[in-house]
Amino acid sequence: MQDEERSLKLTTDNQQPATLFKGHMPRVGMGYDSHRLVAERPLILGGITVPHAMGLQGHSDADVLLHALIDALLGAAGEGDIGRLFPDTDPRWLGADSADLLLQVRSSIEERGFHLVNADMTVIAQAPRLAPYIPHMRQRIAEIMMTDTENINIKAKTAEGMGPIGNGEGMEAYAIVLIERSG
Ligand SMILES: [Zn+2]
Repeated sequence: MQDEERSLKLTTDNQQPATLFKGHMPRVGMGYDSHRLVAERPLILGGITVPHAMGLQGHSDADVLLHALIDALLGAAGEGDIGRLFPDTDPRWLGADSADLLLQVRSSIEERGFHLVNADMTVIAQAPRLAPYIPHMRQRIAEIMMTDTENINIKAKTAEGMGPIGNGEGMEAYAIVLIERSG
């Protein structure tokens, strides 16, 4: 291959993805959260109430799954993290419904011209068994994000009895999202 041809080929190859993504600019974000389980708190998870003897402890309703999702969305949009937007020193967020916080974050990324493509989440809890509640959580989150349920994936795992999560001291959640420019 001649040098000129090679440079032409490289230019063409390099420009193809740029053309594909022009106007869309997909961005990825990840989020992680954990909360302690304590007695005499309702268990709010994925925007719904899950029947359980214990609930998650926190300044807000401590919805660990929605907090991970919020952090992933803020990360993708380059807007920092949940603590910066909703500080736990602010009495406004005492007992806050995390579904409302997620709604505010969706509005915020929409104002910046982005919408959610899909979210994939994992919640780690030794108990209760979460599988029966996952369809309802997906539906609830899809409603808040104004997207199809198929764009919201939730996986529930136990910690196989290992460590503090395995001992039932708390729950953890991870979220990965893809957002892109609307229109
Ligand atoms: Zn949290």
